[in-house]
Amino acid sequence: MENFKNKKSFRETKKIIDRITKNDLSFKSGKIIGSMCTIPFKTTNYFLKRYMTVNLGDPGLFPGSAQLEQEAIKMIGKIFGAETAAGTFVTGGTEANILAMLTAKEYSKGLKKVVLPESAHFSFDKAAKLMDLELVKIPLTKEMTIDIDLAKAAIDDKTMAVVGVAGSTGLGAVDNLKALGELCRENNTYMHVDAAFGGFVLPFLENKDDRLKFDFSIPEVKSITVDPHKMGGGVIPSGCIIYRDTQTASLSEIEVTYLSGGKTSHRTIVGTRSGAATIASIATMLQKGRLDYIKTVRESIEKTQYFYEKITRSDNFESVIKPVINVIGLKSKTMPTKELHQELNRRGWAVSYFNNYLRIVMMPHVRMRDIDKFFKELESIVAKERR
Ligand code: PLP
Repeated sequence: MENFKNKKSFRETKKIIDRITKNDLSFKSGKIIGSMCTIPFKTTNYFLKRYMTVNLGDPGLFPGSAQLEQEAIKMIGKIFGAETAAGTFVTGGTEANILAMLTAKEYSKGLKKVVLPESAHFSFDKAAKLMDLELVKIPLTKEMTIDIDLAKAAIDDKTMAVVGVAGSTGLGAVDNLKALGELCRENNTYMHVDAAFGGFVLPFLENKDDRLKFDFSIPEVKSITVDPHKMGGGVIPSGCIIYRDTQTASLSEIEVTYLSGGKTSHRTIVGTRSGAATIASIATMLQKGRLDYIKTVRESIEKTQYFYEKITRSDNFESVIKPVINVIGLKSKTMPTKELHQELNRRGWAVSYFNNYLRIVMMPHVRMRDIDKFFKELESIVAKERR
């Protein structure tokens, strides 16, 4: 970067920044086929600009925006089956999961053992590091969901929290959360559901299966993570931690006395936080409404099905599990995953590498023609390797 000493004009600045960021990939290219984020809703720019000076960390200065945030949390809580929900917008699933663990620690009055599936997101490892928690990672069934019998053996009266995943990071798998809830009943153990990805998919599926139940209709669920900046169509950074009720939400509260807006309390890890991203994401939810989410989810599932059929018809590839939502774990039958990943990267495709498979996510920005191109490329890579 150029030196900081001499100030630059807007044009010079733009030139410097454009030059340095020119290698960024773009969702519009159709080559990002492994990310859980997407192009935000079309009116996002307006709301970002309009609310860019709002600091939700100082609600006394912005009482209207603070009220809007709470109303939106209640709206999402209702989608998840709780009339009494409370919570907050955060930077994403990571912050939401860390907060859930902090809340569970307070709820359990200082216990430290967390029982969670091996598929749980790395944010729980961050929480463990921060709070010195003991993670007991439970192996998965062949459907890649938490093994309920093994979870049962691990949960006891020393357990601080049980975590279930509704839409796992790698495969979109949904744990048997009803059964997991039943295991929490005896000791009234805190149960958290990480629906960072699945939270804006599962409520809008047209062919709902009882096994995909994930929300507050399971009586033991105390909190849910959900990210508007994933399938919510919102803008980065926006996640939510939704608690069943205000009493649970207030467990993570810290009093803040000195702000210009007056005394308040925070239930977030960060202090100053963007009103712009939160309000733009809320605006997206309002403009899309239930029917649009149903449409978005339907189209994403159709694209997933289309790609899955291509895989199952091919001699060269397989899917780790039959996709549950719009996430697919892809493997070559002949080529090591790492090599396939490197070659895809070399050809400009952005897919996620997991230990023994590649993650493909059929987000709204992925078009059928991108899938066709991608599949052709996959076949050509494997054919070339064989030669
Ligand atoms: N939880 C799940 C299930 C996820 O898949 C992810 C991210 O992919 C997260 C949490 C973390 O979300 P973020 O990257 O927004 O912090």
